[in-house]
Amino acid sequence: MVSRRTFLIGSAAGLGVFGTAGAESGRSDVSAAPGRRYSRAAGSGAGFDPWVEIDAGALAHNARVVAELAEGRPVLGVVKNNAYGLGLETAGPVLDSLDEIAGLAVVKTSEAIALRDAGVAKPILLMGLFEERDAPELVARDISLAPYWESAPEVLRSIARRFGRRLSVHLYLDTGMSRLGMPYYRAAPWITELATLPEVAVKGTFMTFTEGDDFDPEQLRRFLDLAREVRARGIDIGRLHAASSHALFHRRNALLDMVRPGLVLYGAFPLGARNDADLRPALRLKARVVRVEQLRPGDSVSYGRNYMAERPTWVATLPVGHADGYPRRAVEGCVVQIRNEVYPVIGAVSASHTIVEIGTEQAVEVGDEATLVGPDDPAIHPNTVAERADMSVYDVLMHLSRGLPKKLINA
Ligand SMILES: *Cc1c(COP(=O)(O)O)cnc(C)c1O
Repeated sequence: MVSRRTFLIGSAAGLGVFGTAGAESGRSDVSAAPGRRYSRAAGSGAGFDPWVEIDAGALAHNARVVAELAEGRPVLGVVKNNAYGLGLETAGPVLDSLDEIAGLAVVKTSEAIALRDAGVAKPILLMGLFEERDAPELVARDISLAPYWESAPEVLRSIARRFGRRLSVHLYLDTGMSRLGMPYYRAAPWITELATLPEVAVKGTFMTFTEGDDFDPEQLRRFLDLAREVRARGIDIGRLHAASSHALFHRRNALLDMVRPGLVLYGAFPLGARNDADLRPALRLKARVVRVEQLRPGDSVSYGRNYMAERPTWVATLPVGHADGYPRRAVEGCVVQIRNEVYPVIGAVSASHTIVEIGTEQAVEVGDEATLVGPDDPAIHPNTVAERADMSVYDVLMHLSRGLPKKLINA
């Protein structure tokens, strides 16, 4: 406790929040020469801004668990949408360093580029469409492409010739999702043409399940029939892959040559699989208490006055809210962990603040670290937060604000 107190006093003075010394140093900063650039280490967790902690050890652990679920097949790790909120530049290189991970996949051109520029060395698959004007950037970074459009043979040949490079591709097939992919029923001649181009190296062929018990088997049949048909003609279509997190648990006959999960790598469970594997949430959404106050009976809390104290009650304010990605609906049953105890969210989650009920004792103080989402208590597990806030666990992760500083631990 002594060290935290010392730290608090030091940081409070530095921030100019309390006391005249702080205020003076604040003024002298502001009056610095025009044009001065301020730089302050972000993401250290030392300030009062919320942050996301990424646990490299948990990512490594989850990759091992996923490889076991996949019975040793290579894992193409999906890191789209800012690595599901964990931060592309933070989580991407950690996953890249793991033996179980054969490559990484994204949907956006900018993310494919950013991933390579963050130092990722393994294959990167862009599972989305790109503008031809972006081709130089993609080719220079050896990004694998996922063609599904009719003119792919001409387009890819022309790009390959222009840059004097053979292009790696994974053919994207539509077996019933109707989102992306070449419709399976007219894909055979297209596959044959692409796969026989000397400018193109087909590394894989893939599809996406609709994740329904009735239709997934039919999708798999369409995919495998087509693969068998073209392979029978001696055409190499690389590794077949279809399994995302859901299929790792629920479509054990669809693991094929490689698996392609996202969610489970970050330690969360797809629907219907809660606790079916030893996955560990690899992130913590954290903030520090900025106000502790005792309410009088009848005092209300936040917009809408959704909460009224019935007896003298301590409450604490955290400077993190729905603009940071913490669910608005967390107030309908979510809790926050402070000093190994969990406390209910009360009142309303506002854009930048969340208030928790501490109880009759003043059990926390300003500066205490709070965890809103993380592995440390089942009540703040991302899947629990999702259930209690009545939303998808994908949203709990992916809606985390891109701007939250990332702090990597256990690296
Ligand atoms: C997001 C995505 C995945 C990974 O899905 P999870 O459910 O997170 O495992 C796999 N393939 C494609 C095409 C995707 O868009």
